Amino acid sequence: MRVLLAEDDELLGSGLRAGLRQQGFQVDWVRDGHAAACELNTGNYLVAVLDLGLPRLDGLDVIAQTRARGVSTPILVLTARDAVPARIAGLDAGADDYLIKPVDLHELAARLRALVRRAHDQPTRCLRVGAVVLDPASHQVTVDGQLVEVGGREYDLLHTLMLNAGRVLSRAQLEQQVYQWGHEVSSNAIEVHIHHLRRKLPADTIETVRGVGYVVHRPLAP
Ligand code: CA
Repeated sequence: MRVLLAEDDELLGSGLRAGLRQQGFQVDWVRDGHAAACELNTGNYLVAVLDLGLPRLDGLDVIAQTRARGVSTPILVLTARDAVPARIAGLDAGADDYLIKPVDLHELAARLRALVRRAHDQPTRCLRVGAVVLDPASHQVTVDGQLVEVGGREYDLLHTLMLNAGRVLSRAQLEQQVYQWGHEVSSNAIEVHIHHLRRKLPADTIETVRGVGYVVHRPLAP
């Protein structure tokens, strides 16, 4: 899961980034509100963590601008313990959740997963397509109940495809969702990971849509 982190406090920011990475998130960290608004506008993030007190552009204005542009990426705001009016203003501006500093990293990770689930109309903890079940909390993938070993990048790819089941995603869209900044992405990286995934999953799980991209199909309603 690719997360945008907007926090101007160096110590807190680096702690959050390290902690979220440990929880399996891909984290891009910006330190001011203007950069946060620009990055959110790309739509490349599944979810964002936003400090409200940011230089250059206030966190509330970041939220307002983002929502005004029609970007619906879920946003969790970080606020100080006594900042009740700021929290209310954040939620009213279009934030989806908040946490009070200091933040418990496990709680933050769980809330981010819940926000992503909600944004994708996914009511339960696990994603399921046919015999394949993916658990975002434990990062485990099973096929017919049997654990399957998938690498980190393969897991992120499968997670992205399953979250968007029924939607064809292009190679570029998958790259944006799966790679954080600073990663050299070779031109056939996605194809290679898909190839590896296919050897581990039932044959028809990931379909290639020629000239467009890849899709996993929603399970048919019973
Ligand atoms: Ca701040």
